[in-house]
Amino acid sequence: MGKKYQVLARKYRPQRFLDVVGQEAVLTTLKNALQFDQIAHAYLFCGSRGVGKTTLARLFAKALNCLQRGADLEPCNACASCQEISSGQSLDVIEIDGASNRGIDDIRQINETVGYAPSHGQYKIYIIDEVHMLTKEAFNALLKTLEEPPQRAKFFFATTEPHKVLPTIISRCQRFDLSRIDPELITNKLADIAGDLERDVEMEALHLIASFADGSLRDAESLFDQILCFSSSAIQASTVREALGLVAEEYFSALDLAFADCHLAYAFELVEKLFRTGKDLPHFLEQLVDHYRCICLSKTVGLEALSPHLTKRYEKSASFYTSAQALYILDLLITAEQTMQKSPFPRVTLESTLLHLIRSKNRIPIEVIARRLHALEEAMKTSDHSLKVPAQEIEKIDAEMPHSILEPKEPAAAPPSVFVPEPTPVQEPSALEKPPSTASVFIPAPTETPLETETSPALEHEEAPSVFIKTPPESQPAVSEQKEYTFEAPSVFTPQNNQTTPLQKHASHYETMMRFAAVELEGTLKM
Ligand SMILES: [Zn+2]
Repeated sequence: MGKKYQVLARKYRPQRFLDVVGQEAVLTTLKNALQFDQIAHAYLFCGSRGVGKTTLARLFAKALNCLQRGADLEPCNACASCQEISSGQSLDVIEIDGASNRGIDDIRQINETVGYAPSHGQYKIYIIDEVHMLTKEAFNALLKTLEEPPQRAKFFFATTEPHKVLPTIISRCQRFDLSRIDPELITNKLADIAGDLERDVEMEALHLIASFADGSLRDAESLFDQILCFSSSAIQASTVREALGLVAEEYFSALDLAFADCHLAYAFELVEKLFRTGKDLPHFLEQLVDHYRCICLSKTVGLEALSPHLTKRYEKSASFYTSAQALYILDLLITAEQTMQKSPFPRVTLESTLLHLIRSKNRIPIEVIARRLHALEEAMKTSDHSLKVPAQEIEKIDAEMPHSILEPKEPAAAPPSVFVPEPTPVQEPSALEKPPSTASVFIPAPTETPLETETSPALEHEEAPSVFIKTPPESQPAVSEQKEYTFEAPSVFTPQNNQTTPLQKHASHYETMMRFAAVELEGTLKM
C-alpha cells in the first residue's frame, strides 16, 4: 500500500505552474521574478503539510534552470535540465531533507560544493525541506554561506514551523506563506484525477475526502488512493465514510431532533449504536465538534460561509438552535474532548456529554437571568410595587428564555420539584429521565434565602405555573400602547381573597431566577 500511496500523489504532481492548485499570490510573485529576472538568493516557503511547499520550490527551480523556457514562463519539461530534475537526477538541483540531514557536517558538505559551477542550468539550487529541523550549529554554518552566497547558488527552504527557523536566516530570505487549500479546489482536483483514471466516484465522496484532508492536497490524494484500492467498483460516499470511520449524517440530524425535543434517552441510544458498530468514540466527538462548528458558523456568519454541498444540511440543523445554545454546546464539546483523553470511562464520558448537550435546550444564559433579576429587584424596591422597566426590555429578555420556561405546556401539572425542600444540593436525580417540557427539573433544591422566609406562607399557596417567568395576562393588552409594564399596586403584603399580590409574584419570580442563577454559577465556580 505504501508504494501505491506515492504513486498517485507523484503521478499528479504539477509539472507546470498552471497545474498548481491554489496559492495564486505566490505563483504570481514567482512568475514575476522569472519574467524580470529578479531572483533572490534564498526563498522560504512556509505552510502546513501538503499545501505545495516543495512542489513550488521544485517547479521554480525547474523553471529557473530550464534551457528553453517559454514566454508563458513555464518550464518546458523536455530539455535535459527539466528531465533530470523531474527524475531527481539533477546535479544542479539538490534536495536535502532537513529532518534527516540536520547536523553541521551535512551543511559543511553544502558549503564545500556551493562554489562549483552548475552543469547544465544557470543556477545551483539547494532545496532544503523541513529546514527548521537543522541543529543550531548547522544553522550557523548555513548562515555563513547565506551571508556571502556565490553568484549562481540559490537556496529554497521549506518549513511547516517558520518560528523555529533562526531570525537571521529568515531575514535573508524572501518569504512565502502558503495557505491551506480550499476544499472546493481539492474536490475539483480529485475529480480530475478520477476522470483521468476512469473511475466512477460520487461527488459527495470527493467532498468528504477533501474536507477530511484539512487543506492538504497531498493528504487528500493519499486518502483517495487508499479508497480507490478499497474497491474496484464505483466509489460511494458511504464507502468513504466507512474507510474514514465517519459516522453517518443521520446520527447528527437525529441528535438535532433529540435536542429539540429534549429527548435525553437518545444520548444512550446513540452511544450504544456507536459502540456496537465499533466506532472510535474520541473520533466521533471530533466529528460532533465539527457539526456544531458548522452550526455556529451558519448562525453567526451565515450559510454562505459553509462549503456549498453543506448548505442544505445546515440550513435545517441550524434551525434547531439559537446562537447562544450552539456556542454553549461547542464549548461543552471542546471541554469534553479534553476530559475524554484522561477518562478511564470514555463511553460514560461521551454519554454524559450528550446528556448535557441535549438538556442544554432548557438552559438560560446567566446574563439573561441577571437582567431579569435586576428587573424584578427594581420592581420590588419601588414603593408602589409596580414593575418599572420598559416593556421592550422585558420582551427582549423573555425572548432569550427557552420557550418551555415561559409557556409551560401543562399549566395544571403538579408543582415542580423547586418547592420540595431537600437537605442538600441535588445530583439532579431526574436528569436521566426524559424531563417534562419545563426547566424546573434542573433547578436544585432550594437553599435558605431571606426572601423565602419572608414570603414563604404565600409561596405555599403559589400555583405551579407562576414559577415560570410569564407576564401576568392582565398586563398584556397594555404592552403595545404603553412603555412600561404596570402591575396593580397592592395595598398590603398579605393575600386578600386568597389572591396572590403582584409583590408576592415578583418575589416568587425573583426566587426562581436566583435558583437558575445558582445552577448556572455553580458550574462556573467549580471550574
Ligand atoms: Zn526545460
